Amino acid sequence: MSSLEARRLSHLEATIRAASGEQIVTIERLVAEVASTRVAEVALVRRTEVSHAERGCPHCGTEGAHLHGKDKNDRQQFRCCISACRRTFNILTGTPMARARKPKKWGHYLSHMTDHRSVRKITAARIGVNHTTVWRWRHRFLRASAQDNAMTLYGVIEADETFFVRSCTGHRGWVNGRPPEDRAARPRAWGATKWSLSGEQVPVLTTIEAALDGRIAAGSVVCSDGAPVYARAAVTAGAEHRRVMVPTVAPKVVKLAPLPTKRRQKGRLGLGRVNAHHGQIKGLVNGRCRGVATPYLGSYLG
Ligand SMILES: [Zn+2]
Repeated sequence: MSSLEARRLSHLEATIRAASGEQIVTIERLVAEVASTRVAEVALVRRTEVSHAERGCPHCGTEGAHLHGKDKNDRQQFRCCISACRRTFNILTGTPMARARKPKKWGHYLSHMTDHRSVRKITAARIGVNHTTVWRWRHRFLRASAQDNAMTLYGVIEADETFFVRSCTGHRGWVNGRPPEDRAARPRAWGATKWSLSGEQVPVLTTIEAALDGRIAAGSVVCSDGAPVYARAAVTAGAEHRRVMVPTVAPKVVKLAPLPTKRRQKGRLGLGRVNAHHGQIKGLVNGRCRGVATPYLGSYLG
């Protein structure tokens, strides 16, 4: 950092420290807004800080690597201090963004991606990279943000599963005679061809126990539809499990005699939020993204 930049930063710090409560709230909002438009840059700086502090080698896991100059993108390089390893790395080694080119264009690309624009539309916006690169970057950034999601859940946790129709969109097997599944290709709008839950549906939270393992903080309350898998996950984590009764009424019966609507009691536990969240991700994946091939579903959900 140049001395001019350092002086400006210390001046800014002094101004923030002297700000009133109201001004701090405004500054907080402004910083969050700017950070959301420059996600890549901010994430990179954060990662740089962590890497500089730990200097952990992604190849062998040893900490305390030596500084090893800068690469052509002006990114700090490190060299492992263990003689058996001695490999060089930078802050992105071992992440989905490793060896991705043109870092100066990531911010511009991300501003389009956060609006959920299609690959074709982003290419047409002339950000200076071609169609294939845009597609690759999309999946790299999705994987990177999916990795960031691994966190511990605490407090009142609502758990439920949802299903997506298995999708092989874009698979070349339908054209070159090696279809990925033993069925004819179908238009997306058809959805699953079988009723109820079949092999055509992919559950999100596929292996619920694996997905929740180590993520629930002890002392939390896990609300679910009562499936044994949630109860087991809660017991393992030292949390309380509560079964939430979901009324199952056949649509025909409702039509004949509408049930009186019950006012929801304040503070009562339910699965409303998780079900609303499922609605949102279905809207994003099936609506906005026009369906996503099953192998990439995990990245999009992340
Ligand atoms: Zn090493």
